[in-house]
Amino acid sequence: MKPGVRIPFTVGDRVTLKKRHPCGGSHWEVYRIGADIGLRCTTCGRRVMLSRRNAELRTVARIPAGARGEVSS
Ligand SMILES: [Zn+2]
Repeated sequence: MKPGVRIPFTVGDRVTLKKRHPCGGSHWEVYRIGADIGLRCTTCGRRVMLSRRNAELRTVARIPAGARGEVSS
């Protein structure tokens, strides 16, 4: 995704961030939308909050909530 593009984050989205989490995972699930975007690491379950702008800048891929094609865990 191009930097600076507004991403319509939705609870349940799966996103891939530029930077890997220290646990080795790079896939996150959106669990909260607000002034900040709440992301949960799907590898270790840790939760982080990012500002919307930061989340948009760091997101390199997004699978919208409800999209098929990925094996659910
Ligand atoms: Zn993690």
